[in-house]
Amino acid sequence: SSPITTTHIALVSVPAFSHQVSILEFAKRLLHLHADTFHVTCIIPTLSSSPSKHSFFFDSLPHNIHCIFLPSVNFHDLNNNGVSVEIQTQLSASRAMSSVRETLVSLSKTTDISALVADAMAPEALEFGKELNILSYIYFPCSTMVLSVCFHSQNLDEEVSCEYKDHPGLIHLPGCIPISGRDLPDSMQDRGSLAYKLFLQRCQRYLNGHDGILVNSFMELEEEATKAISQHGNGGDYPHVYSVGPITQSGPSGSKSRCECLLWLDKQEPNSVLYVSFGSGGTLSQDQIDELALGLELSKQKFLWVNLRAPNDRASATYFSEGGLVDDDDPLHFLPKGFLERTKEQGLVMCGWAPQVEVLGHRSIGAFLSHCGWNSVLESVVHGVPMIAWPLFAEQRSNAALVSDGLKVALRAKMKKPSVVVKEDIVKLIKGLMEGLEGQEIRRKVKELKKLANSAIMEDGSSTRTIANLANKWKNKHT
Ligand code: UDP
Repeated sequence: SSPITTTHIALVSVPAFSHQVSILEFAKRLLHLHADTFHVTCIIPTLSSSPSKHSFFFDSLPHNIHCIFLPSVNFHDLNNNGVSVEIQTQLSASRAMSSVRETLVSLSKTTDISALVADAMAPEALEFGKELNILSYIYFPCSTMVLSVCFHSQNLDEEVSCEYKDHPGLIHLPGCIPISGRDLPDSMQDRGSLAYKLFLQRCQRYLNGHDGILVNSFMELEEEATKAISQHGNGGDYPHVYSVGPITQSGPSGSKSRCECLLWLDKQEPNSVLYVSFGSGGTLSQDQIDELALGLELSKQKFLWVNLRAPNDRASATYFSEGGLVDDDDPLHFLPKGFLERTKEQGLVMCGWAPQVEVLGHRSIGAFLSHCGWNSVLESVVHGVPMIAWPLFAEQRSNAALVSDGLKVALRAKMKKPSVVVKEDIVKLIKGLMEGLEGQEIRRKVKELKKLANSAIMEDGSSTRTIANLANKWKNKHT
């Protein structure tokens, strides 16, 4: 029999855990489908030299995925100047590019790399693909709709003269639901800003200079948008787009024993609990924490609220309360007075990291109040959990528009007071989703999507076939 040759793939990620998880889960999927013939090296720029609090994830990777953590880049000037997480991520990745190059070049001396896949926030790495004469791809960990926004960003920039949020009427992109300018990604919201300039530059790089874009979505979820992009791509000026999703987190959740929140969920009725999370970095104002807490309480619905953080508008590291100076290292101090005591039978509040995928898969979960980070959206869809869409930043408003207006698997929270969703509306949303007729229809829809999501990644599913095509292309580079 002929000897099995190993195909080497290099990945380049960015200093953001949810991006790292997504690209590495893609690698796992590739290895799972093509056992033993691939070896993956993932190069990861870092922001600090302290070990990642997420080491459980990296420690559990299969032996043929190898991570190289680069020495941390200096980014303190970025951190202190109030720049957004998105700019920090992109600029810190940019600053790591010379080490990325060195690592790739030295890797290519000992192994024959077939393809390079770089995170969408690190498109500069594609240059090294050209230099090393290997196939190179972008991994886009967001929706096809947001990719479409990126592809059209230059045209929009030429056609729209005002700020997008002031644009009258909706913005129509081929195959996408019409969205308001306000729902475009954050980086487009101030056209004089550095964020916007970097965004436009990044989007230009998406359009050419590589062999394709792998997007974490699936045909059945965003059929029209995907078709519109590929028709344009067919002999047109768009690159090839491969829908490889839903790619979601698998494997251990970080805690050895069954964690407190899962034990608590075990004791609840099926479909009875609202899961509340604003993702790995989302924060609320003090006003909003109060309204949300009171809304949850008034709804009388069971809830599991995780990742509670100190408010984003607190004046200093300590603050005065009735009893004197309070140490606010503990975010629970920012909940309304007496809330925890009054709701101790109704809900559980956690400040730390939760095993989200296990939570969403738990039979007691009935709905997800989510900030609509794309990973959370996909995880909710995969588990058939309807959502209350409560976007905060980045491209989360576009995702919220997609899941509510487009896919109709979510109710969307509306801000009433400036930037605050009030408790009366929170109660309406919760009751509407967990009890109302509209909620039933949303539940039916999301169960339908769950089936489609699961079939996309089954043997012969649309995404499985797409990954198989890529894998064959990469393997054949050797023969
Ligand atoms: N996550 C988790 N536990 C938490 C918070 C988040 O496991 O307590 C995971 C979640 O399952 C998802 C990712 O972290 O896979 C967050 O990614 P997303 O795109 O939803 O939002 P981001 O954190 O990037 O805003």
